[in-house]
Amino acid sequence: MSNSPAAPAEGHSSLEGKPLDPDGSDADLFQSGFLADATVKCGDKTFNVHLLILCRRCEWFKKCFVGHYKESQDREVTIVDENPDLIECLLFYIYSQDVEKAVTKLANITQWSRYKGCVMLWKAGDFFLLPGLKRGTRKHLFTLIKADISRLCSIDDPTAFSIDEISDAIRAAYTIPNAKWWRTAIAGFLCIARRNTLKSDKLFELMEEIPHFAVDFLKSLRHPSPSGGEMHKGPMICGKCFKPVKKPQDGAMWYPLSISDVVVVQHLKCIEWSTPEAGKP
Ligand SMILES: [Zn+2]
Repeated sequence: MSNSPAAPAEGHSSLEGKPLDPDGSDADLFQSGFLADATVKCGDKTFNVHLLILCRRCEWFKKCFVGHYKESQDREVTIVDENPDLIECLLFYIYSQDVEKAVTKLANITQWSRYKGCVMLWKAGDFFLLPGLKRGTRKHLFTLIKADISRLCSIDDPTAFSIDEISDAIRAAYTIPNAKWWRTAIAGFLCIARRNTLKSDKLFELMEEIPHFAVDFLKSLRHPSPSGGEMHKGPMICGKCFKPVKKPQDGAMWYPLSISDVVVVQHLKCIEWSTPEAGKP
């Protein structure tokens, strides 16, 4: 028996000296299909995949490929009634473990907003038993909101916000039966940006289209966060005596639901109760 190692397989030499996953990600294996040993089909797309990676990282695929099913013999799974682009990005996530890149990739392929990308990948994470993807998409939503909030709440440039940017995500959240968390989160986001969203005719068109969305938006207004735009810009000034309200317990604050959405602060001692019998909280 010879001690010399076997000649490398064709294509192997090009990887010599290079780590397989330079980013700590296996995304390149998914892109190249190198040494793939199974197939996932969805719609008009076929993906060459690696049993080891899918079965190790995804309970749903493990059940398919390791159980006593036809799929485990054929090493082929066909996913029906699902968007092939979504499945592609789901697989990309399983390989890369990178939620942000998966959301961006999905948005680029489909022209969906990244908000809708989050909702749809969460839905996929729920179906394919990927708790990390469910957590990651929720977390990523707040990253998106944080990045967009100042633009969406801009007073100087009200045209900076278009509800079009998020309406596809709203529609998606209301077509997925158990996406209550997303509905509340998105309604809350639009409520924070209400200085602009309430000016948008599209908001009310969406409410006519999806009455439940109107209910969730109103629920958010019941306990609104301070509207963005003018938050933390200066000291709170009493609307009655125009002196600073130094401690929160010295003052009361209102966020009227009008479009102008003026934040009213008054010292408790300065408040004139219009109907003293019934009005005092
Ligand atoms: Zn005062």
